[in-house]
Amino acid sequence: MNYVSTRGRVSPVGFAEAVMMGLATDGGLLVPAVIPQVGRDTLRDWSRLSFQDLALEVMSPYVGGEIPREDLRGLIARAYAGFSHPEVTPVVEAGGLKVLELFHGPTAAFKDVALQLLGNLFEYLLQRDGGHLNILGATSGDTGSAAIAAVRGKERIQILILHPKGRVSPIQERQMTTVLDPNVHNIAIRGTFDDGQRIVKDLFNDLAFKAEYQLGAVNSINWVRILAQTIYYFYAWGRVSGGDPDRRLSFSVPTGNFGDCFACYLAKRMGLPADRIIVATNRNAILTEFVHTGNYEASEVYQTLSPAMDIQVASNFERYLYFLHGGDAAIVRDLVEQMQASGRLTVKGSRLNQVRADFDATAVSDADTLAQMRTTFAGSGYILCPHTATGVWAARVRGNAVCLATAHPAKFNEAVQAAIGQDAPAPESLRGLMDKPTRCTELDATTQAVREHIRATLGAVGAGPA
Ligand SMILES: *Cc1c(COP(=O)(O)O)cnc(C)c1O
Repeated sequence: MNYVSTRGRVSPVGFAEAVMMGLATDGGLLVPAVIPQVGRDTLRDWSRLSFQDLALEVMSPYVGGEIPREDLRGLIARAYAGFSHPEVTPVVEAGGLKVLELFHGPTAAFKDVALQLLGNLFEYLLQRDGGHLNILGATSGDTGSAAIAAVRGKERIQILILHPKGRVSPIQERQMTTVLDPNVHNIAIRGTFDDGQRIVKDLFNDLAFKAEYQLGAVNSINWVRILAQTIYYFYAWGRVSGGDPDRRLSFSVPTGNFGDCFACYLAKRMGLPADRIIVATNRNAILTEFVHTGNYEASEVYQTLSPAMDIQVASNFERYLYFLHGGDAAIVRDLVEQMQASGRLTVKGSRLNQVRADFDATAVSDADTLAQMRTTFAGSGYILCPHTATGVWAARVRGNAVCLATAHPAKFNEAVQAAIGQDAPAPESLRGLMDKPTRCTELDATTQAVREHIRATLGAVGAGPA
């Protein structure tokens, strides 16, 4: 399988190169040159597979022979061995709702499903092809812990994650700083999340430094993250439909970066019998506005009860634009230029009709999020995390939608308390975190302080320049 850039200025690369490249070198996103097709008989067969066996089938055409099948099977087994539910991503019933639980991984949020696989792929490819990867990222909470959990203890990989000191929740902080593996380096900066992002961006823009220390990103735009997320749509469909290819299901998807929505769209383009894809946003409603009007325009970022969705510019949106325009990279370049010049892009006419055929969308306020958490709990005793609640609210007019549960509610107990007046019981992975030993370096929020720290750290572990 070849991968091309949404902006059309990278010569096609294979799967392994796409995994290691992350962001395409022309600033675009990598997408498969063709979308593999799944027929009715295959759907029936797939509906009987375990999550791991299904993952192998879904991924195989995308890997395209670059990894021997048995190696890929082993990678998948290792990636999902740390999940606490035997089905990995089970569908549960809660008061008439169908909930696709994606939070049984080591950090209790759906990002584990993709990052655990990506971590194992990185390790495999580095062992096979040589080289080192030093991952540098800034986090406001969830992504940092999932990335650390994905690569802890892995050979040839070091990870450095910046978080704003005192500005992530105590649980999120401990999920990162209690990981004591020698390849994990937590940095608490005396500043904000924006400071962290700025520092990381500065260091990536320092091309000599980036090359010298082989810095890579924990990209939310890595193709493997999308690919891994398509697996659970097929899995959920198989469990709910019983394998009848005429049984179409709708999905309700809480989103900020459009990653999960794009994964569902891709699954549908592959042949998943999906009916509606419901985009659920919080007050940061840029994607909902786009589906309704064709205008995609960023405004300020509002803080909400669903912080992992407090995003304005959705990093995966460009992939959808590419397929919406039939793979015409010149149009994508035009739209990106519009966005860069005026902070806005517009899709009109038949293209807009297509957008509306592809997606429904609803923006959900904090008040409605809490109301949904309360109603679901009162009706069934099931506790929704605030992100999940936006999707459930958005889906309530469509009886048969499968709602994605993106995090365990115990990660967001402040919102849970506000909604139902009690805490959600913590899963095993979140228990005892506050009593464990921690390791973390505190630094001033300056690029220079972080640069020097990286030199000292990577020099000491031998993953810096020789
Ligand atoms: C990251 C995250 C989301 C949003 O995911 P997208 O990639 O933006 O679709 C939703 N809920 C939780 C709990 C998350 O951590």
